[in-house]
Amino acid sequence: MAGKKNHHCFCCGRDESQVQYLLQVKEGFICDTCVTSLYSYLEDAGVVSPAVKAPSKPAKPASQSRKEVTPQKIHAYLDQYVIGQDRAKKVLSVAVYNHYKRLENNLDATDSQVELEKSNILLAGPTGTGKTLLARSIARLLDVPFTIVDATVLTEAGYVGEDVESILSRLLEQADYDVARTERGIVFIDEIDKVARKSDNPSITRDVSGEGVQQAMLKLLEGNVVNVPPKGGRKHPEQDFVHINTENILFICGGAFEGIERRIAQRLNTQVIGFDSAAKQQIDMEDFRAYGLIPEIIGRLPVITYLDPLDETALKRILVEPKNALIKQYEKMFEMDGKKLVVEPEVLDLIVKTAVEKKVGARGLRSICEKIFTEAMYEAPSSDRTVYTVTLDFARKTL
Ligand code: ADP
Repeated sequence: MAGKKNHHCFCCGRDESQVQYLLQVKEGFICDTCVTSLYSYLEDAGVVSPAVKAPSKPAKPASQSRKEVTPQKIHAYLDQYVIGQDRAKKVLSVAVYNHYKRLENNLDATDSQVELEKSNILLAGPTGTGKTLLARSIARLLDVPFTIVDATVLTEAGYVGEDVESILSRLLEQADYDVARTERGIVFIDEIDKVARKSDNPSITRDVSGEGVQQAMLKLLEGNVVNVPPKGGRKHPEQDFVHINTENILFICGGAFEGIERRIAQRLNTQVIGFDSAAKQQIDMEDFRAYGLIPEIIGRLPVITYLDPLDETALKRILVEPKNALIKQYEKMFEMDGKKLVVEPEVLDLIVKTAVEKKVGARGLRSICEKIFTEAMYEAPSSDRTVYTVTLDFARKTL
């Protein structure tokens, strides 16, 4: 197959990595999905006799069955990638465990059984504190397709921006166009707190990004069969829609919800002195109303938790502790050149201090590291030393 790397299906445009099979025809290639669609057109037209359909493929089992996974194991897995945020990890572990327990229950549901309802999740907390990282790590653990969307780019169908359905197109793409897998995936909707903002603006006569989007989003969160254009939105009208049932897709929504601590304090009639964890545990549905989320959306996000801002100690741990910590990545890069990288502890303090000063949090650690280590990686290969030490002096000069 090596020579076919960049070949595309001339019919739908998908390349080899996105289809199961690419059949070479006279001057090009056609994929298995298009061949099947063409055949069914011919069937409908009575040109060919109906094909005997192969039974649809069973969903690829998750790499871990629910019996092997427990909330505590999910928590321990998250600990390898995410620093701190214990409360959020606990809430998420239980929610995800229950979600997959629910899938199992409803799969072999008999009339007498209790139907378990889906619980989507709402993560509130400052930007760069690990909301996306938590959702991504859970998807990795469960081996389910995962996609991230920014709620602020979504608009009502027909307006400039992305339709809400495009969320599912992306998930479908992540699942290699396997519908069964798509229907067990996880979607992370970021900046959910910003989705209603524009409707406050009186100069906008048509509310294309507020309530309309939320209503469309509600359809996904509730669990419905949605018609999804398989590729790139509605740019290819000739393509058939794929029907995706969102009933078992887990939606995790994230948002900073700035100032929510003041609202909680107001509601509880207490003073805000910082935002202690006891107050955060009091976070409640009604605190989210003020951000313009319609009650139906809030009602569909019953699992709510709050992430802590990251202090200097947490940022320093993020540099060195997670499985794919930044410093571990640079060490690996040096190792590939046959060198050992040594970073003086004071350099880590400098990186953290710079991130705090620039108010970039964990998100900014990489760009600060890049500055220091690019310089080191430029120098190291020409140096005879097998051990390369990054000193505080060197780091200060590069920043
Ligand atoms: P959010 O979604 O809360 O805005 P992200 O999860 O996207 O933030 O975090 C941005 C980056 O910062 C992550 O990719 C990760 O490298 C780092 N990071 C943030 N929070 C943590 C954390 N608690 N533990 C480890 N790394 C973190």
